[in-house]
Amino acid sequence: MRIWLSVILIALAIAVVILAFRARRSGKPIGASVSLLLIALLPPMIGNLIIIVSGDRAVANAGSLIYFVGMDLVMFSLLNFTFRFCSIKWPSRILQYLVYAILVADAVSLLLNPIYGHAFTLEPIMVEGSVYYNLVPLLGQTIHRVIDYTVFFSVLVIFLVKVRNTPRINSERYTVILLSMVFIGLWQTFYVFSGTPVDRSMIGYGVFGLLVYFFAIYYRSMRLLDSMLSDMASRMTDAVYIFDGAGECVWSNESGKKLTGMAEDSESYESIPRRLRSMFGYYEQQNDDWSSRHMLGEDENARYYIMKKRSTVDKKGRVTGSLLSIHDNTDDQKVLLKEKYNATHDPLTGLLNKEYLSQLIEERTKDDHDTSYMVGVLNVSNFKLVNDVFGSDFGDYTLRCIGEWLRISATENMVYGRLGGDNFGIFLPVEEFNEKYVKDLLADFVVEDDKSTHHILMQFGVYEITEEGLDAASMFDRARIALSTIKGEYKKYIAVYDEAMRNEVLWSQQLSNQLKDAIAERQIRPYLQPMVDRNGKIVGAEALVRWDHPTYGFLSPGRFIPVFEENGMIATLDRYIWRCACEILSRWKEKGIDTFISVNISPKDFYFMDVAAELMGIVSEYDIDPAMLRIEITETIMMTEVNARIQMLEQLREFGFTVEMDDFGSGYSSLNMLKDIPVDVIKIDMVFLTETSDENKAKKILHSVITLSNELKIESLTEGVETEPQYRMLKDMGCRLFQGFYFSKPMPVEDFERFCEIA
Ligand code: C2E
Ligand code: CA
Ligand code: CA
Repeated sequence: MRIWLSVILIALAIAVVILAFRARRSGKPIGASVSLLLIALLPPMIGNLIIIVSGDRAVANAGSLIYFVGMDLVMFSLLNFTFRFCSIKWPSRILQYLVYAILVADAVSLLLNPIYGHAFTLEPIMVEGSVYYNLVPLLGQTIHRVIDYTVFFSVLVIFLVKVRNTPRINSERYTVILLSMVFIGLWQTFYVFSGTPVDRSMIGYGVFGLLVYFFAIYYRSMRLLDSMLSDMASRMTDAVYIFDGAGECVWSNESGKKLTGMAEDSESYESIPRRLRSMFGYYEQQNDDWSSRHMLGEDENARYYIMKKRSTVDKKGRVTGSLLSIHDNTDDQKVLLKEKYNATHDPLTGLLNKEYLSQLIEERTKDDHDTSYMVGVLNVSNFKLVNDVFGSDFGDYTLRCIGEWLRISATENMVYGRLGGDNFGIFLPVEEFNEKYVKDLLADFVVEDDKSTHHILMQFGVYEITEEGLDAASMFDRARIALSTIKGEYKKYIAVYDEAMRNEVLWSQQLSNQLKDAIAERQIRPYLQPMVDRNGKIVGAEALVRWDHPTYGFLSPGRFIPVFEENGMIATLDRYIWRCACEILSRWKEKGIDTFISVNISPKDFYFMDVAAELMGIVSEYDIDPAMLRIEITETIMMTEVNARIQMLEQLREFGFTVEMDDFGSGYSSLNMLKDIPVDVIKIDMVFLTETSDENKAKKILHSVITLSNELKIESLTEGVETEPQYRMLKDMGCRLFQGFYFSKPMPVEDFERFCEIA
């Protein structure tokens, strides 16, 4: 029996030592106290062991001393542990040190027992056939017991109070330690007072050590965790379901019941998997962790959910259960969808915006190489006029109608949107484009409001995507180039882009970029073509611009004037030619030559400068007689602001300029307008001189124009005189001035000057 007891005690002692180390290294604040208490348990255990195994009085004596002094150490460390573990403070420092001092004094008194013999003696008795030294307590030992019991009871009281004051869920750890202390206390008291040989209560010490370690260091209240977690889960807005290892639903929170339409107090969780499947369709329950997104309902009523499944597995990887959570993110999703909508749509028409349309086009053309696509730009001609005349509200309304019209007329695979302003972009497979059909649609397009029906002219420029890797912006540019070729043309609805158009645009851009330098380098300069009177005398000249281009060679104005008229650079060019003319005139003035020069004025000049002020300014600057600078205008300048233009011409004439009406007869000029427009000369267009089928008719008109102008005191000049018979005929008709290849082609100024001296 003593052997077995020894073995158990040694095993427990070893366990206690190991746990003491682990407690110290646990890193917990309580670790040091636990470690100290565990170590303190060793001396009584070892002392007891010595008593049990020894058959020798001296050894048993030493064992007893270790035992009793050890008990004082146990009390000290038990106090220390109790105060920390129960998180309380000593009522006063003095009391604390007094108690410690008493324990130390008791230990010292016991150690002095071998000398004074005041505490205890040992008497040998026979147990199981061998000697066992039984304790005979004396006064010192009685004092020792009183002290240790007092401390022990105090500790019990502290624990008792702690257990009472702590909520049930948390008091578990205190209760266990309290009960184990009561148990050991009783057990040991039994040995102390019964006088039964061989004290076995030290086994309780070892077990107590293990319990302290477990509850102070290792233990976490699972009940606390449980109740807190389930409380949290119940209150969560997400639906939460817990499944056991077999996939049966064992629990759901309030939100989970609500989502599946279960009564709040219902506990029939087994129906949940079936309910979930009927809502979200089949979902995988067993395998791995996953998450998935779901949309229930449609459009306005749609609700969005995120489902997440997480499994718990044991150490062997077996699924012990799983948790399914369902988050309703409808609100977030709606905000997100709204934001996405705003970022991708045009607010006025609700069509896709330029950025998003471009993105879609680029994605499509990148992914799909088998289909050929085309890009179109739809434009309202004269949209500015629509706005100006009917107001911007009507303008907006028109754009919305176009949006609606696009929606209705869209083909199956067409993508379209608003590029901005009155521009709409369209993208579709070439095979879905029916030119005739689109043309009819465009021709029939009307905007109706409560008052009337408005015909709005729309034009459509198209680019068939032939080049790979082009970005959407370049595609639209090409469609716009096509569009620009029919701009302003009535009854032309569709233009399809080709390479020539692009070259034309590139050409225009190039020339525009070069204009300034070309002027500075004198690549551009005026040629002069003589104007002759009835006697064959050169009385004047027309300045006609020429460009001696370094790469394109000799360019006639027909090649570049339309370009500059389009982009407004014509003003720069004309101003320059006028100055050249003035320069020549001022040189001639010094030489005493009184030949005039006619300069051309583009109708577009009026948009970009104050023509009259400019002309008056330069003649003053060069100090020449305004009569020497003749001004050629065409009737197109009378298309708008008629009165202002007439006023301006009168102003110029009063100043001394001679105004010539150019190209008379080439357009729709009527004889009638001659009485309204204040001009000095009409330049009769050469169309009358070209050989037509009805030569006689032309001649008759020519004759009457000349006669009429003479009667109106307007000087007549015929252009394009190429032959001597023509010259003679015109003279017979009464024409005053003549210009044409018959006399000379336009030539450089130096040549002209030489030519005049010869002539
Ligand atoms: P335009 O003002 O009607 O000029 C007369 C055009 O007829 C000139 O062509 C001239 O070379 C041509 N011409 C003269 N005699 C004959 C002839 O007997 N037979 C034929 N077949 N043609 C003849 P050009 O120089 O090519 O000028 C073309 C047009 O360019 C001019 O028509 C004028 O509208 C414009 N233009 C020329 N220079 C300027 C300029 O400095 N500024 C502006 N704004 N326009 C200019
Ligand atoms: Ca002219
Ligand atoms: Ca002319």
